[in-house]
Amino acid sequence: MNCIFCDIVNGKAPSEIIFEDEHVLGFLDIRPLNYGHSLVIPKIHFENFLDVPKSDLESVVAAAQKISEAIKLSMNTDGLNIVANTGRAAGQTVFHFHFHIIPRFNSDDFHFKPVFKNYENGLMKELADKIRKAVK
Ligand code: AMP
Ligand code: ZN
Repeated sequence: MNCIFCDIVNGKAPSEIIFEDEHVLGFLDIRPLNYGHSLVIPKIHFENFLDVPKSDLESVVAAAQKISEAIKLSMNTDGLNIVANTGRAAGQTVFHFHFHIIPRFNSDDFHFKPVFKNYENGLMKELADKIRKAVK
């Protein structure tokens, strides 16, 4: 299997590592949305958020919080976006689970431009019922 993030974990590809423990690696994204944009990954390969076992996920979340604090402190950010693109349709391009930690500043020119929808005719309850039924 060809995976650039596994190569980074194994030291076969270069990276700017900012955090490492037994289970998790944090490193700078090579194409940052803002400088300091970082990625946090489990060292073991899982395709995406839905595939990560709870214990590995807990390690990654704990590390993501630690790295977020460090980025906020060291870069004096006004905010952060913490994102896990899950699936090709959601913009995932590297299929080794990762959180993005993106530094944000009041003055930055990086904007999400969502077009919000309105729920009509009971659709909100219909969808909530569907999801409630599926939650295990
Ligand atoms: P995603 O689109 O959510 O799968 O994000 C994958 C991210 O990995 C992108 O932001 C890429 O810029 C980043 N990326 C890809 N290859 C590397 C690499 N060799 N080192 C650091 N970041 C990378
Ligand atoms: Zn991998």
